[in-house]
Amino acid sequence: MENYSSLVSAQQLFFQSDRTKDITFRVKALQTLRNAIKNHENELLEALRADLNKSEFEAYSTEIGFVLEELRFTISRLHSWVKPQKVKTPITHLGSESYIHSEPYGVTLIIAPWNYPFQLAIAPLIGAISAGNCAVMKPSELTPKTSEILEKLITEYFPKDYISVVQGGIETSQALLMEPFDYIFFTGSVPVGKIIMEAAAKNLTPVTLELGGKSPCIVHDDAHLKLAAKRIAWGKYTNAGQTCIAPDYLYIHKNVKDEFLNLLKQTITELYGSEPLDNPNFTRIVSERHFDRLSSFLSNGEIYFGGKTNREKRLIEPTVLIDITWDEPIMQDEIFGPIFPVLEYTDLSEVIIGIHHHPKPLSLYIFTENNEIQKKVVNSISFGGGCVNDTVYHFASPHLPFGGVGPSGIGSYHGKGSYDAFSHKKSILKQTTRFDIPFRYPNVKNGLKKIKMFMK
Ligand code: NAD
Repeated sequence: MENYSSLVSAQQLFFQSDRTKDITFRVKALQTLRNAIKNHENELLEALRADLNKSEFEAYSTEIGFVLEELRFTISRLHSWVKPQKVKTPITHLGSESYIHSEPYGVTLIIAPWNYPFQLAIAPLIGAISAGNCAVMKPSELTPKTSEILEKLITEYFPKDYISVVQGGIETSQALLMEPFDYIFFTGSVPVGKIIMEAAAKNLTPVTLELGGKSPCIVHDDAHLKLAAKRIAWGKYTNAGQTCIAPDYLYIHKNVKDEFLNLLKQTITELYGSEPLDNPNFTRIVSERHFDRLSSFLSNGEIYFGGKTNREKRLIEPTVLIDITWDEPIMQDEIFGPIFPVLEYTDLSEVIIGIHHHPKPLSLYIFTENNEIQKKVVNSISFGGGCVNDTVYHFASPHLPFGGVGPSGIGSYHGKGSYDAFSHKKSILKQTTRFDIPFRYPNVKNGLKKIKMFMK
């Protein structure tokens, strides 16, 4: 097994020089990253096309443009984020002032998955840099072209002691996990998330885990069905369903099932053409193993729409399955592909109970015009985050920290959330030396009586 102790030691030395703590240094690094991405934009687009057949539109909007926006947002606000945050001081602490100082963890590890191989590696890096950390990045081995450009871009613009990219698969990841990182940011599957947390526990290393799960999408009988169909089809089939927050399955109210499914069918054709397998811009399934796993689900329930595949090109049509129950294989784990199983309900309580019987989802989407139902769903069901009358869009707001809960993840990021995720919040009390209030000392006269005036 490879050994990364010299890399980590070099980064520790770099970090200990305090250079990364300088705000000017951080802003410059973020600007450098921005320029690097812009200078390599074409290569990145080509790599994403080669790895996953992402269209330029998808690659730019969901990967490159997304991180450029995060960078712009962060660069313009970092000066205000780094200021120590003043907080109130209680009367018992008269004479002192209190503030919270954000300090970088130190040397951080970022492990990224393959589905948005550029964005999910760079977005956490923006947090690491802005908070003043060093970083080792381990991109996915399943998207080799994008990971290669990522390494090229980072190596060209940043010293290895500050930010470096390590390529490899599971073994590399595990060798990295042996090192005493100060913080680990992991994006990937639930089973691997457990492995990461176990490794982190050995050193009591704090973690953020951005995991997955089955994200429900509920369409109630009073929903704006046409818009719902459009927003759901887009959220589900973008990147061929290989999106952690894609609607995994649909809960449709019985009264509007036929009408909605018909609209969904029309929308899919409008968005992806009548022969999606011939659409040059439809994203590929990442590997044959993933393709075979997904294809096996096509015999679950009944195919309502789609269902055609091409193994050679690793393509699966946007597909809708009906007559599905929770017992079907497709309902056991996160699907992560362009297949949409449909469950039917008559009363919202069935939906709530159904979801409660399963692990807390990463996202949830509810389509209804009824405010009370919107509130009820948000209140009664625990999930990472989500949308009312939309899908996936919450992910793209830098004002909404993004993350899971319980089995769908720990911690959150994006916008200031990324800065906070990579910072330890250090609380400081700055005491006066001009006087000393005596109540806390054991030799004060009537001490207990006096202290009870303040602590009651
Ligand atoms: P994965 O867990 O298989 O791999 C993620 C990373 O972990 C890769 O870099 C991989 O090399 C490494 N890895 C794999 N096995 C490992 C092991 N045994 N020990 C140590 N490291 C290991 O995930 P994936 O297939 O690349 O991505 C798909 C999953 O990621 C889905 O479950 C999806 O929901 C989730 N995901 C979550 C988010 C989010 O933001 N919450 C975003 C994208 C993907």
